[in-house]
Amino acid sequence: MSRVLLLGGTSEARELAALLDADPAFDVESSLAGRVANPRLPVGRSRIGGFGGVQGMVDYLAAGGFSAVVDATHPFAATISRNVAEAARISGLPLVSVIRPPWEPQAGDDWFRVPTVAGAAAEMAARPAGRALLTTGRQDVHEFAHLHAWWFVVRVVDAPSKGLPRRYALLLDRGPYTCAGERDLIQRNRIDVLVTKNSGGDLVSAKLTAARELGVAVIMVDRPARPAGVPSVTTAVEAHAWLATLA
Ligand code: NAP
Repeated sequence: MSRVLLLGGTSEARELAALLDADPAFDVESSLAGRVANPRLPVGRSRIGGFGGVQGMVDYLAAGGFSAVVDATHPFAATISRNVAEAARISGLPLVSVIRPPWEPQAGDDWFRVPTVAGAAAEMAARPAGRALLTTGRQDVHEFAHLHAWWFVVRVVDAPSKGLPRRYALLLDRGPYTCAGERDLIQRNRIDVLVTKNSGGDLVSAKLTAARELGVAVIMVDRPARPAGVPSVTTAVEAHAWLATLA
């Protein structure tokens, strides 16, 4: 039986945990960062909290007798992806990443792409102030705190403890969302600009369709670079198949 450490926090990770849990060839343990107060827990065994950097993860992999590692963390969780690439290399363990494809602009989209969340805030500062739907997540809200002339709908899973902008409405929600619901949200709040990370996937993409249909501008934060040399797949089913080839 192959013992797999599955770094999660995404829908793909939960899907893969269920696949591996149902396969007698694997013994899977999911790992969550513990950022969200009430996380959607995967099927099977899980642990919550950081490892204490690369060395902590190396120690954890050795102590647990793991034989393979999967990085199914969010495309913007750059630190943990770097750390697991390094820890797997040091430990001599196979590692695969599950990376959902990024969203691509379609006809009718009005996207302005920026390399970082701070870049999104800088772009907003350069535009006439208006009303923004901010969906970049709790940890990045502070990047927009200085934009006093803008009004925000801040949509997050858990309320940020600090760094909220001066003028905002807080919307606690975690999706998935519908196009009708997103259209209604944008229209009700007279949103001019949608700010989002290019997370990819179907669960939260309805906001992009709604923005396109309503002619709302999108400030799209591009993904951070991935660690070099790590093989990747795009779905949980592919990751399961990849792991099966190791057996
Ligand atoms: P990050 O900046 O890449 O990681 C920061 C630290 O958090 C890591 O060094 C590690 O601590 C710990 N950590 C992160 N993911 C972990 C995991 N799955 N298991 C155990 N420890 C983990 O991560 P982040 O951007 O804060 O994201 C945290 C989690 O939320 C990830 O699991 C990610 O999949 C999920 N998430 C992130 C976003 C986003 O936009 N960033 C969106 C949705 C979900 P140590 O160094 O102590 O090991």
